[in-house]
Amino acid sequence: MALTGTLQHRLLPHLAGQARVLGTRREADGVVRWGEVTAWSELAPPGELPQLPPKVWLLPSPELLWTEGGGGFVPAANDEALVLVGVATCDLAGVAWLDQAGADDGSYRRRRRSLRLVGRACQPLPSCSCPPRTSPPPFDLFVDDDWLWSGSAWGDGVLAALAEGPRVVTHAVPKTSAHAATLAPPADLAARFRAGQEAPVWAATAARCLACGACSVVCPTCNCFDVVDTAPLAGPVQRWRVADNCFFRDHALVAGGHNFRPDRTARLKFRFEHKLLGFGPLRGQSSCVGCGRCVRACPARIDLREVWAALPAAPEGGG
Ligand code: SF4
Ligand code: SF4
Repeated sequence: MALTGTLQHRLLPHLAGQARVLGTRREADGVVRWGEVTAWSELAPPGELPQLPPKVWLLPSPELLWTEGGGGFVPAANDEALVLVGVATCDLAGVAWLDQAGADDGSYRRRRRSLRLVGRACQPLPSCSCPPRTSPPPFDLFVDDDWLWSGSAWGDGVLAALAEGPRVVTHAVPKTSAHAATLAPPADLAARFRAGQEAPVWAATAARCLACGACSVVCPTCNCFDVVDTAPLAGPVQRWRVADNCFFRDHALVAGGHNFRPDRTARLKFRFEHKLLGFGPLRGQSSCVGCGRCVRACPARIDLREVWAALPAAPEGGG
């Protein structure tokens, strides 16, 4: 649907009648955060990503999972209808990855069913490493310079309501950005990891790393968590999900005191390998969507693109 100024003006008020509508807002301290928006003009310019990705709405921390009561466990109510507006394509890709990782996670699925995503064409920053995309990852609505696209039945309904006449729905491919990857991972990255287990870049980077975990906190797909039960003397037992971080010293600490990754070099290597090569059922699928948040957030200016570029080329036939 051609996106006239009038239509753009009507989109957010229309959405506000259905759900809580949050968009990317630049606040007084200069940081872009998710906040209530009532007009398209309130959104931060394209390319200015919110400090935290959409995962904060899907995997909040701490998150109440259930409360004991009535002879059983009562799942927490977590199905508030929410619309995120102005979601960049990398963040859409992040949600698509979390959808796979959280496919068997009841709490995640309840939140996800209540979340609608209004994507937007982007202007990547130098710190981005998003791959060129011919089409955006799954979305409900997508806005580029001149068009509003639907990607779901809910999006179809919005378009139909806004059209005020014959339904105008298109599933053709919207424009995502004119950007080509600045430094995409090399095609033989898995072989480089295998060949580069003892490469000097790991220890050299770990020596700069503060183990603050900021890179993982801001990453759209990092989703490690711990589970904590609270059992007050008065009141019900509750189970909580709390974000964890693979840079923290006790992340791989197990009963008996053994730590599978006792030093920072091991933790750094673990994060990079799992981020770029995937793990578990998603092994082989990178969970880095190229948003560049980790590059911008790192107080030690560690850039994952420089790390993978420093890994030795794989031996002949090792790819
Ligand atoms: S690893 Fe860095 S660039 Fe990749 S998705 Fe996570 S925060 Fe973004
Ligand atoms: S943000 Fe930088 S310093 Fe902090 S844990 Fe990550 S790589 Fe290390």
